[in-house]
Amino acid sequence: MLSKLRTLCLKGIDGREVSAEVYIASGLPAYVVVGLPDAAVKEAKDRVVAAVRNSGFDFPSKRITVNLAPAEIKKTGTHFDLPIALGVLAASGKIGQKAAARMGDTFFIGELALDGAVRPVAGVLPMLLALKGLGATAVVPAGNSAEAAVSGVKCLAASTLKGVAAWLAGEGELECCAAAPERKPAADQIPDMSEVKGQAFAKRAMEIAAAGFHNIILVGPPGAGKSMLAKRFGALLPPMTFDEALETTKLYSISGLGAAGRLVSERPFREPHHTISDAALIGGGSSPRPGEVSLAHNGVLFLDEFPEFSRPAIEALREPLEAWKVTVSRVKESVAYPARFLMVAAMNPCPCGYLGHPTRECACTPLQVHKYRSRVSGPILDRIDLQVQLSAVKYSDWESLPKGEPSSAVAGRVLKAIEIQRGRFKGGTRANAFMTGAELRLHCALPEGAASVLETAMNKLGFSARSLDKILKIARTIADLEGVPALKREHVIEAVQYRMLDRASGLATGI
Ligand SMILES: [Zn+2]
Repeated sequence: MLSKLRTLCLKGIDGREVSAEVYIASGLPAYVVVGLPDAAVKEAKDRVVAAVRNSGFDFPSKRITVNLAPAEIKKTGTHFDLPIALGVLAASGKIGQKAAARMGDTFFIGELALDGAVRPVAGVLPMLLALKGLGATAVVPAGNSAEAAVSGVKCLAASTLKGVAAWLAGEGELECCAAAPERKPAADQIPDMSEVKGQAFAKRAMEIAAAGFHNIILVGPPGAGKSMLAKRFGALLPPMTFDEALETTKLYSISGLGAAGRLVSERPFREPHHTISDAALIGGGSSPRPGEVSLAHNGVLFLDEFPEFSRPAIEALREPLEAWKVTVSRVKESVAYPARFLMVAAMNPCPCGYLGHPTRECACTPLQVHKYRSRVSGPILDRIDLQVQLSAVKYSDWESLPKGEPSSAVAGRVLKAIEIQRGRFKGGTRANAFMTGAELRLHCALPEGAASVLETAMNKLGFSARSLDKILKIARTIADLEGVPALKREHVIEAVQYRMLDRASGLATGI
């Protein structure tokens, strides 16, 4: 006999409908899965057999063929267990004719334990979003209940195979998936900018970075406050829109992080250690997972000790920094994960950290300094809009410095600048940092007297043509923070100061 159940799978970050067909024929006992399954799907056999038997049913000793269609999409993961097991029960006549109606308009997702329990799986939210607006019902693992509720699709929670079989036969009920209780926003958990004394220049750069979604690199000796500033950066960014939150939550769901079934409603702050592999940073693997760059989507990726990251990891950042997505290629297909993060990188000026320090002596040779800096290649630096040098603050100065401005005051200005950009780019999440060449010419007309500033930057300081585009983008954000429509000469002059690594002489070493 033949049975057909509906389920879903993931292609990249989007759900696709899959039909699980089970055919039972007489003949020698066998179990075959076709339709581009991966190893986890093939292994479903052992779990399905045990779960069916331990749920009080007989497993047919016949020839069983499972077909997952359409065949061109690679089937990954363990969530096909439940539809396959139900298909076997239906095709062997164990759940009665009445089940056919419910089977037709329900989607099933779930991994089975050997005792027949239904286990939670990764990627439930993005799979369910494919059903939005179709009026379908989905049966999902009870452990994914809260995450499923976020999707807005009618979902029922499954705890055991037996329970789902009884529901299909009209002999039992399944509970509706309920949303997780509201959680207090964690905004106040981010430490406040006011705790960082001094470093007015770096703080101003952080404000510009937040306002235009510009990547930023902080260069300075240990103790200058690079990490302190970076860790407080999230509080300057505006709240996530619902669409942004949904996009980010999808990526967490695929990674199996599920965020305890809640919408990821605060901008992520990811802080991978420099020993991370390039695959973990960027994403990939035999069954692809989003990397740190995608988990930081719509939020902040903080890379401390930037030159200490492996060369392949640093170079792999090129694609997401340029295209705001990561493409992971596999044998049969390639998937793309969004990765629109704001990168905050931090580095010392030299291996020992004290080059240019007012009181400590640097122990590095010029060659060591050169080698250290060249670990961050030109193409990567080219993709970082703001480059800021911090100097160490002397204790005597530090003590007398007043408390800084609170994050909320800066965030207020940032939000105003972002609203101007939303109007300019007509909604969406576009920001000055993402301007194309045409948009740059349209929105960043060079003000009077600014051409000479740029000419000096190129001829005397050795700036490249590429960095001139960056200067204009930054100047645009500075003007937006001020709330003025046209660029002014002083905006351009200020922007030039945030490109210190572009100077032919590199980092200022004498301070
Ligand atoms: Zn040194």
